[in-house]
Amino acid sequence: MKWLLRRCTKCGRYTLRRDKCSVCGGPVRVPHPPRFSPDDRFIKYRYMMMKKAGLIPEDP
Ligand SMILES: [Zn+2]
Repeated sequence: MKWLLRRCTKCGRYTLRRDKCSVCGGPVRVPHPPRFSPDDRFIKYRYMMMKKAGLIPEDP
């Protein structure tokens, strides 16, 4: 089965659209990119944003 959901990199919402976010118009990505892909330059940035938003607990 193909993964249909995309996730907006801007607001973090899930959408079925493949071109852009239906809420804020931001770029969308498949929410489970290959973990070690050098293509995903946004992981670090997203991680920082999530950390800032309190979604990820601080490292010990
Ligand atoms: Zn959005």
